[in-house]
Amino acid sequence: MQTKLFINGDFVDAEAGQTLDVLNPHDNSVITQIAEGREADIDRAVAAAKTAFPAWRDLGASDRGLLLLRLADKIEQNREELARLEATDTGHPIRDCLNLDVPRTVLCFRYFGGMADKLEGSVIPVDAGFLNYLQREPIGVVGQIVPWNFPLMFTSWKMAPALAAGNTVVLKPAEITPLSTLRIAELMREVGFPPGVVNIVPGYGQTAGQRLADHPDVGKIAFTGSTATGRRIVEASAGNLKKVQLELGGKGPNIVFADANIPMAVGGSAFGIFHNQGQACIAGSRLILHEKIADQFLDKFVGLAKSIKLGNPLDPSTEMGPLTSKLHQERVLNYVKIAHQEGAEILTGGKVPDDPALADGCYVEPTVVMAQPEDRVCQEEVFGPFVSVNIFAEDEEALAIANGTEYGLGAGFWTSDLTRAHLLAKNLHAGMVWINTYKRVHPASPFGGVGQSGYGREMGFEVMREYTQAKSVWVNVDAKIPPFYKR
Ligand code: NAD
Repeated sequence: MQTKLFINGDFVDAEAGQTLDVLNPHDNSVITQIAEGREADIDRAVAAAKTAFPAWRDLGASDRGLLLLRLADKIEQNREELARLEATDTGHPIRDCLNLDVPRTVLCFRYFGGMADKLEGSVIPVDAGFLNYLQREPIGVVGQIVPWNFPLMFTSWKMAPALAAGNTVVLKPAEITPLSTLRIAELMREVGFPPGVVNIVPGYGQTAGQRLADHPDVGKIAFTGSTATGRRIVEASAGNLKKVQLELGGKGPNIVFADANIPMAVGGSAFGIFHNQGQACIAGSRLILHEKIADQFLDKFVGLAKSIKLGNPLDPSTEMGPLTSKLHQERVLNYVKIAHQEGAEILTGGKVPDDPALADGCYVEPTVVMAQPEDRVCQEEVFGPFVSVNIFAEDEEALAIANGTEYGLGAGFWTSDLTRAHLLAKNLHAGMVWINTYKRVHPASPFGGVGQSGYGREMGFEVMREYTQAKSVWVNVDAKIPPFYKR
């Protein structure tokens, strides 16, 4: 298991020699100690990325793509090991790691490996006699800061497009979940990424993260995490006016209309909130149910929630693992207290499971809470297996509840009415809308939010604009220019 910082193609100790413990959320045992990067280590990593940039930029685009494609193959060959590492470090059930986290990581590196030599510029029709063309150029050194909820997958979402576009990267994983990202660094070295093109510096946000965000040689910062930290990143970026891309929190509305296919909506809604223990910015954390089907829906949905099998993430039959840290478990349980204080009704869950085998871990039962749209539990991101329920009668009311938070990331609904579906897709305040499905993602489809959920888009052709800047080139081919300043 790799535990050191990855700088300039080598695994190295932190400059001041400090380390931090990485814990297994199943029982809070120490998995290993890793080097803890701080400001000086970020400086070393940025210097390496800056030195590596010109050669990486000038490498043929197909050659850059080929390295990403080879990396995708390597990850696939090491699927089982990476899945185990991710399950142990994050608490994701191994069945999810094998079927979602690792394959999605492979797909992302493959998609952007293919993208590298397909990013075209354009020729722009300007005045007669002039040729004007636009080329897209990489920015330079890109800083990337990721959270702990999908460390492996987010490593690919962040690094793959940046590298395909010709940037070099310094990535800071979350301090509590660095292990799969360090393994990816090892695989990158094996497939032949040149030293310095990618540097991985695990460490705390206030030290390593902050330095990356304010570093004068970093041309862009791409951040996924909480809205509060996103604001700090924007402030830190002001010094050198670096580009900023923010993927922040969410409070996903999930509306079920009376004409919905109920069994499909129940299963899809359960995936929307309970997959990954609800630790997803795009979780469908607010169920908004039509009054006619609310009882029938809740009967099935609460029954399903009660039947979810919690357990050791390494057990292939486990459907829900622990939350990723003790601190976060406490945060989620605190929202149960808030729900009680607000007079909400807990329909199921709201506590740690009784099973003594899970007592030392960070587990929380799947929780369903009947509440009012203005309650804190319907407004603030809980980021756990915790879903609030509101009831509506008219479509306009459902839309108002759905749009009634400061966030605007993912939103979804279930209906068989085509007109309603298109109207709602247009009117939902969100970066992504799912109709008769929830929480779908794909590297070809743009991902990001509006409002307090951030700005900029990951994935697809959209993200290539985020990782490049446009240069407009003018050529006088045969222009008949009036004789300014003719002597
Ligand atoms: P967080 O903001 O505390 O931490 C995220 C990352 O930022 C970590 O690597 C952390 O070390 C770093 N960080 C913390 N303080 C920093 C600072 N001052 N300067 C620079 N970096 C700093 O968030 P979290 O609790 O780890 O993650 C959960 C949050 O992430 C949730 O709000 C969730 O919605 C959001 N999220 C958003 C998306 C999205 O795509 N929109 C995806 C996943 C998670």
